[in-house]
Amino acid sequence: MNTMTGGTVKVSIDLPMQVAPEVAADIEKESVFVSPKLERIRVNSDHKTAVLEIRDAGFTSEVVEKVHRYVAAMAKQRTGFDIKTYGKSERSDSGPYQSGVNEEFVRRGWVHDYGKGQVAYNGPVLRLARLVNEKAGALYAEHFNTAEGHFPGFIDADVLHKCGYFDSHPNQASFVGNVVEDFDVIEEFRVANSCSEGAILPQDAHIHQDGMCLNPAACFPAYPTLQGKRFDEAGFSLSWLGRVFRYESRNASGLDRLYEFNVREIVFVGTENFVANRRKRALPLIVELAKTFDLDMEIETATDPFFATVSASKKFFQAAMEVKNEILIPVLDGKGGTKKMACGSVNMHGRFFGEKFDITASDGEPAHTGCIGLGIERWVLAAFTQHGFDPMRWPEGVRDEIFG
Ligand SMILES: [Zn+2]
Repeated sequence: MNTMTGGTVKVSIDLPMQVAPEVAADIEKESVFVSPKLERIRVNSDHKTAVLEIRDAGFTSEVVEKVHRYVAAMAKQRTGFDIKTYGKSERSDSGPYQSGVNEEFVRRGWVHDYGKGQVAYNGPVLRLARLVNEKAGALYAEHFNTAEGHFPGFIDADVLHKCGYFDSHPNQASFVGNVVEDFDVIEEFRVANSCSEGAILPQDAHIHQDGMCLNPAACFPAYPTLQGKRFDEAGFSLSWLGRVFRYESRNASGLDRLYEFNVREIVFVGTENFVANRRKRALPLIVELAKTFDLDMEIETATDPFFATVSASKKFFQAAMEVKNEILIPVLDGKGGTKKMACGSVNMHGRFFGEKFDITASDGEPAHTGCIGLGIERWVLAAFTQHGFDPMRWPEGVRDEIFG
């Protein structure tokens, strides 16, 4: 390993073109995945130049070269999509948005932040999380006669591959490693840890992967269970609370960017008409859910980032085909303004999963599928941001359940 260190250094670069503000924000956010030697990229306000903070000056040329390739891929993103709104809710609480919600959760002992994108929670945070999940589940059950399910937190890499995940978000995958099945290696690992201060991890050669990943999208584990099935005209609607893992590297923070979080998911399976109809009927239910908690919320055309090299094509496809909408709830941006936080998405998959997993609709064609995922912890953070910590600002219907 090269251990030369020349201290940190700042380098200015030109971007290949002037980029749109949202592309500039994506370049900054995804920069944690460019190089371990790169602290961050800051795009200047001209949106034509950027400053790199490099952790080790000895690697400057290597990092700069990599950053040029990265920003070239990111800058190709098409912007200026026709953003449409598909549903909207406006809160009646006239109080200000609450700042420092994550910090206040921790101060009150309602959240324990483990520091790497995982949280434990209790009290009002837990009660609100449960309530969001239960209200959404009850709405789906009432309107769509949903079947319920339960799925594991691990998922086979082959399933993720089939679902196209490594092609769209390779940077966010997590692989499970185990100590190799070797008496001496296991003993070495045991002895090393029996008297050590902190954990001594097995050396790389002593860890093997048997192809298990942490599940990064709530609906993926459902499709193998539908393999080979044929559905009748009634179609199929399945809903559950799923555990989801997305590696965020150094971006992990608070309840807004977790490595591990919970998603209330619903999946529709059937003919093209069936799935389109279910989506149409589901949008007002999301609005109803937002109204239950008295939240400002909008459902819009999605523009969320993919991994740099596929971002340009996939984002455009997604926006042009209306295959994905985001459920956006405004929160504070930490700079005195607000930003729209994605608290869920509405996805139309076409025949993709039907073909990949041999699922058939009543018309004999590969089934169409669609899903809606609601990020529970983000709903909690958004609701506390919009109503603060005074129970009287919360809607009467949920106040007592949350604050006890
Ligand atoms: Zn899904």
